[in-house]
Amino acid sequence: MTQYDPRSLAAEEFINDDEIQASLAYGEEHKHDIELINQILDKALAFKGMTHREAAVLMACDLPEVNEKILHTAISVKEHIYGKRIVLFAPLYLSNYCVNTCTYCPYHAKNKNIIRKKLSQEEIRREVIALQDQGHKRLLLEAGEHPKENPIEYILESIKTIYSIKHKNGAIRRVNVNIAATTVENYKKLHDAQIGTYQLFQETYHKKTYEELHPKGPKSDYAYHTEAHDRAMQAGIDDVGLGVLFGLNLYKYDFIGLLMHAEHLEAVHGVGPHTISVPRICPADDIDPTTFSNAVPDDIFLKIVALIRLAVPYTGMIMSTRESERIRTEALKLGISQISGGSRTSVGGYTIKDIRDVENTAQFDTSDRRSLDEVMGWLLANGYLPSFCTACYRAGRTGDRFMEYAKTGEIAMYCQANAVMTIKEYLCDYASPKTRELGLQVIENELPKITHEKVRLASIKRLKRIEEGERDFRF
Ligand code: SF4
Ligand code: SF4
Repeated sequence: MTQYDPRSLAAEEFINDDEIQASLAYGEEHKHDIELINQILDKALAFKGMTHREAAVLMACDLPEVNEKILHTAISVKEHIYGKRIVLFAPLYLSNYCVNTCTYCPYHAKNKNIIRKKLSQEEIRREVIALQDQGHKRLLLEAGEHPKENPIEYILESIKTIYSIKHKNGAIRRVNVNIAATTVENYKKLHDAQIGTYQLFQETYHKKTYEELHPKGPKSDYAYHTEAHDRAMQAGIDDVGLGVLFGLNLYKYDFIGLLMHAEHLEAVHGVGPHTISVPRICPADDIDPTTFSNAVPDDIFLKIVALIRLAVPYTGMIMSTRESERIRTEALKLGISQISGGSRTSVGGYTIKDIRDVENTAQFDTSDRRSLDEVMGWLLANGYLPSFCTACYRAGRTGDRFMEYAKTGEIAMYCQANAVMTIKEYLCDYASPKTRELGLQVIENELPKITHEKVRLASIKRLKRIEEGERDFRF
């Protein structure tokens, strides 16, 4: 029997199957223990998080009034820590060449229906200009795993190209990266290239299922994949992102595995994940529909979002365009702090004009097909404060330094001021008249919420300077 040890660097010890099974059993045993449930919720409401065992109890609970209370508690925690701010980003697909055989992804090596494409540096330049012209400042790079087509040198060169492009008032100020698990040496190179967060999704924590879903290719090595975040952190990347592709395995198992992974990072590196993404499996080209047999229904999915918010209150939560406007609306209230807007999940999708070409290289269907301006208008009309802020890693607030600011609540003042200033830039440079009008009103409402007087007064002065043409202020 493998021992459970959150401090171990071996995947099967920190994501220990026996411990997950025991946690699920503990959850079932205590799922109607109202006294315990209330204690757990009180702790979460005080922003102290939850252990994976505590989370298992709430996950197992099927009492409608408790489930209502879970949602309300998540809304309170979200509002207190994140206010109305929602950070926006866009994915940029560099290449869909891939040597892996993930059964749920249309980029799998055996798919002959899909057009394979890898962007040249000139094509990247055009994509980035198109993204800058929408108003984006923060990108998430995506590429399949292919040592020949997409070696680390290609990724590094692409990052350099992206940071170098300054088109009109545009600039990409933070490049987050989602590429396959790699070596410490390569993570050091990514760190030196000044990436923001390194994201890698586990897909599923259940080893046997993982191996069935990844029959061939480097990704089939469960331990190498699961231990990747440790190697990235060892290489100096402070901010790492976790994620499960909900619907590949039984969600309760993966939910507990995800929280154990977060606890492991905290135990070993002194800081948990910077972000958690909650993708849900969705239809795509050449994917066997039986892959969806564990599909997570909407109400359970929203409960997962709420419970992650309660378990790791200071970890950003990301939702992609896979989800519909309706689910995004609910999930924003419960815990999501970052969303993509105006996204294309295909290689060259921001500049290719022929829609058939776009769809032929897409990784998955996007349910939310609105433009960035429409997403901005929708957020603003719903009282949210969209933000293009990228300040923290540029100011050295990463890893445990970031968490210190987050846990004392000091970060909220910076987030609020930076959100107001970056929206103002957006309104001046890219917004439609309707969005501009809504945005100016939201800025007026949100400015007084910058509680620190000095920061508030400085923000007011900077807003004026943005109107006069200056850019890129940050706290
Ligand atoms: Fe390749 Fe990633 Fe798709 Fe797997 S999920 S086939 S590694 S692009
Ligand atoms: Fe994110 Fe830091 Fe900006 Fe806040 S100040 S929105 S935490 S980058």
